[in-house]
Amino acid sequence: MTVQQLDAIRSYHAHIYFDGQEQRGIAEILREEIAQRFSVLIGRWHDHPIGPHTRPMYQVAFSTSEFARFVPWLMINQRGLAVLIHPNTGRSRRDHLSDSLWLGEKLGINDEAFRVDAQTNQEPEIVPNTHPTVTP
Ligand code: ZN
Repeated sequence: MTVQQLDAIRSYHAHIYFDGQEQRGIAEILREEIAQRFSVLIGRWHDHPIGPHTRPMYQVAFSTSEFARFVPWLMINQRGLAVLIHPNTGRSRRDHLSDSLWLGEKLGINDEAFRVDAQTNQEPEIVPNTHPTVTP
């Protein structure tokens, strides 16, 4: 097995999952807390499962330089929600399935979604859309 170089990781995603209205409310609070504290790109709400994701969620994209602050903060502030954190190396299936980490409940990933997904797809550059106003 080949050793992977760290610079293969271009960015990361955190997928914040929720199940039902109560958890969606919690996810809204968490979303606001993240926006106040971190330079990240917060994606739109997906109220139905999409792609490989088997539960409603939103995505938070962040740079490798933000990992050391953002991920530990999420560990202790995920409020009981399931969170998938995965690298973006351009190998989408592997990034989600084997090279990822979970906070809280570990959910299923729909493997079928990767059949149509080109393994060389490029992730867009991370352009933060949040403006931290609170020091973590
Ligand atoms: Zn993702």
